[in-house]
Amino acid sequence: MEIKQLDNKYIANTYHRADLLLEKGKGSLLYDEKGKEYIDLGSGIAVNIFGIADEEWENAVSHQLKQIQHASNYYYTQPQAKLAELLCKKTGMKKVFFGNSGAEANEAAIKAARKYGSDKYGKDRNIIITLVNSFHGRTIATLAATGQDDFHHDFGPFPEGFVYADANDSEALVKIVDENDGKICAIMFELIQGEGGVNVLSEQFTKTIADICSKKDILMVCDEVQTGNGRTGKLYCYMNYGLKPDIFTTAKGLGGGLPISATVFGEKTENVLTAGTHGSTFGGNPVCAAGAFSILSRLNEDVFEGVKLRSNYIIDELSPLDTVESVDGLGLMLGIKPKKDLSKVVEACKEKGVIVLTAKDKLRLLPALNIPMEQLKKAIEIIKEALI
Ligand SMILES: *Cc1c(COP(=O)(O)O)cnc(C)c1O
Repeated sequence: MEIKQLDNKYIANTYHRADLLLEKGKGSLLYDEKGKEYIDLGSGIAVNIFGIADEEWENAVSHQLKQIQHASNYYYTQPQAKLAELLCKKTGMKKVFFGNSGAEANEAAIKAARKYGSDKYGKDRNIIITLVNSFHGRTIATLAATGQDDFHHDFGPFPEGFVYADANDSEALVKIVDENDGKICAIMFELIQGEGGVNVLSEQFTKTIADICSKKDILMVCDEVQTGNGRTGKLYCYMNYGLKPDIFTTAKGLGGGLPISATVFGEKTENVLTAGTHGSTFGGNPVCAAGAFSILSRLNEDVFEGVKLRSNYIIDELSPLDTVESVDGLGLMLGIKPKKDLSKVVEACKEKGVIVLTAKDKLRLLPALNIPMEQLKKAIEIIKEALI
């Protein structure tokens, strides 16, 4: 049977797959089974940070593969310890819990936030404020944290203790905090809502969050699953805002294409999770950790400058167009609202050899951070045509 038919027959119908079978790639170029070439502006949803088959990453991964592929967390392994040290050194944070996905990283953050509240103030301090339009994952708890009703049909009952606040409405947030005084353990948010439509939090709103958190000993939890690892022109997006989260989570780009996530703890939270309170069989897998180390060790100012350069190019080219309603986002996490029907734009891009993503009513671009300028220019010309 043909691959597409096999897939449709035997794989649970959870994805709206595009009619595209990807076979291989190199850097920011992808090829389907007929050899047709595509310029990739999605990087597997912000995952392939340095594109497909990046040589240094490939070497690090295959080297580790020949040493030991898995050991369980009963034992020490080198790549995990080295990666945790690097994450802490680059961020000033104190400790790391490794998982395998964004949802798992957020699940660990939710558990740690609740335990912090409970240890210090008693078990009634368990409410986590999240934002309307947020996306925090697909497990039952992270779905509950996700402030989008669309995701909540059919799967209840959900765990209690999540209250949703409108993004960028400081007054409303203050009101919610007052109404639940003494019961809130954390405020969890994405600085740029990805799945929610590439919505950027205002600096003023994040200042309000920071202010509330420091005054009331409420934990600031930044979900950097999508915004992290250089994507927005800094190592983590909170650094653009001058924030100091108590916990941040990251996944997608961290492993450069392998499944690994990190829940990263600061001074207040580094010792909240204790032996036996949390765990993961695969979490911090040596091969994934070696891949992540290779990525993280190369995310430096040069890369961030490159991100800003590419970002400015895209914004300068697309935002003045009559066919474009708006361009939002930061760095290489950009949302373009077309005047034309979105699905037609995506289809036209695919037809002409460019892979793009969507988020709500926007075209979403999440290219590799090192996409060659020539390929990016070619892709933007194709998008311009597709927007007409
Ligand atoms: C993708 C995403 C998640 C979920 O990550 P998975 O690896 O799919 O579990 C959580 N939060 C944000 C902000 C994301 O973009």
